[in-house]
Amino acid sequence: MSVSERRFPRSLIEFQGRFATEGACAEYLFERRWPEGFVCPGCGGGRAWLLHTKAFTYECADCGRQTSVTAGTIMHASKLPLTIWFWAAFLMATHSNGISALQLQNQLALGSYRTAWMLCAKLRRAMVNPGREPLSGLVEADETIIPFRTKDDPAVLPAGRSAVGKMLVAGAVEIDGGRPRRARLKVIESFGKQQLQAFVLGAVAPHTQLVTDNWPSYQDLAGVRHNAITLGPMAAHVALPWIHRLFSNLKRWGLGVYHGLRKTNLQHYLDEFVFRFNRRRTRHAAFDTLLGIGTRTAPAPYHVLIRKAA
Ligand SMILES: [Zn+2]
Repeated sequence: MSVSERRFPRSLIEFQGRFATEGACAEYLFERRWPEGFVCPGCGGGRAWLLHTKAFTYECADCGRQTSVTAGTIMHASKLPLTIWFWAAFLMATHSNGISALQLQNQLALGSYRTAWMLCAKLRRAMVNPGREPLSGLVEADETIIPFRTKDDPAVLPAGRSAVGKMLVAGAVEIDGGRPRRARLKVIESFGKQQLQAFVLGAVAPHTQLVTDNWPSYQDLAGVRHNAITLGPMAAHVALPWIHRLFSNLKRWGLGVYHGLRKTNLQHYLDEFVFRFNRRRTRHAAFDTLLGIGTRTAPAPYHVLIRKAA
């Protein structure tokens, strides 16, 4: 666990005390973005004045560009207080099952469901790090079918009625020392060779040791070492234990938090599930990433910062 991970608030009480004011939140943002002091995203200059007319905004002494502490983050130009953003990101990052828009509205006493929904949607879109590393080492891959409900379906269907549709999901889990590390999930159109191989090759690094069942679509994968297990009498959850556990957790989560996943934006919900799974031991990093300030750890932090600020 890193030093910043240890310093991160461990409880609601601690979090509340630390991020009680707009100033405290802005100070945190400043320190995370510019640990060595302000750097102008326009000219790279280090001298700036804090403006009195705009909240938490600095004007570069060299080029005159104005940069707010939220520029380039998902909070940029938001009318919501920073404290609300911080609370929402904390709840989403630390709640082991995540939080629905309705729960967030109630917990943060937000004026409307729409505001809560927008907040959730923005945070959810921050859940895929564009610079993430592919899975490597030993990786289990498989595919599954998940029922979804449409907007008009009741949350609980009457017995014997199957108005739900089916959606296909491909998944992969990296195994390290007998334990799962990171995962990937993707909505796919079919279990055909093209779809599944595109998923696998997009998710894993070259020379990965891939384990699948003997479904023909996984045959002849270029660039990976492949071990296809003929299941026969051996149950799939024995041969591929971690990907199967991931799939069953995903299905339970979809039912529990969202009363069944919906087809619209399904990939974003898969991303949310994977985000939480991959960061289950690094809440601090999850929090930073959600607020859009985790970009410093990306491979090209400066360019990412520039691009987002522009
Ligand atoms: Zn400048």
